[in-house]
Amino acid sequence: MKNDNNALLFDLDHTLYPRESGVLNKIDGNISAFLADYFGISVQKAEELRHKFYKQYGLSLTGLIKEYPSFDVKAYLRHVYDFDITKMLKPAKKLRRILMETPNPKYIFTNGLESYASRILGALGISEYFRKIYGIEFMDFNCKPSPEAFLKVVGDIGREPRDFIMIDDLPQNLMTAKKLKMKTVLVGKGEKKPYIDEIISDITDIPAALKKLAGK
Ligand SMILES: [Mg+2]
Repeated sequence: MKNDNNALLFDLDHTLYPRESGVLNKIDGNISAFLADYFGISVQKAEELRHKFYKQYGLSLTGLIKEYPSFDVKAYLRHVYDFDITKMLKPAKKLRRILMETPNPKYIFTNGLESYASRILGALGISEYFRKIYGIEFMDFNCKPSPEAFLKVVGDIGREPRDFIMIDDLPQNLMTAKKLKMKTVLVGKGEKKPYIDEIISDITDIPAALKKLAGK
């Protein structure tokens, strides 16, 4: 199969573990609580602020840093990510076996923090299968779906964009990937779009998608 050596770029949240785990809900709740306290506003106003920044910048923290230069990033990170992930995520045995049997080089490419990504992989029991975690620190908070984020990762790995397969639950990230000539796999429910090569409902269906891409 000619694509066997393609590098796999895995998104983290809602790609490697399901939405139902509640991990991102917990983080969102922590962000709103922190912002309410930090700015002295109601939790509802803090929710609105979080939504606004997420929509505008792809990540709440990016908006906060850009619009409030003296924002206390360290306090924010301490508060937002301070919870026990192992209570929400259990070892993913089937995924572990699949990653073990998939020879392609694998990387994490997430808008989350690298230390947080590392904790998630640890809880799922799959850390050893990834060569490197590219998180928001590496991207200087200029996150997906910006092409610069993708090109920075591609440049660091030292291969051409067309040698990559991006696997993500957010269509807008796959749109950028496709513009750069990567192959794309959507995880979750979605409609077939020109920039989406394959759709899988669960990450453990990835071998079938890779097989189909190899035939293209
Ligand atoms: Mg995601």
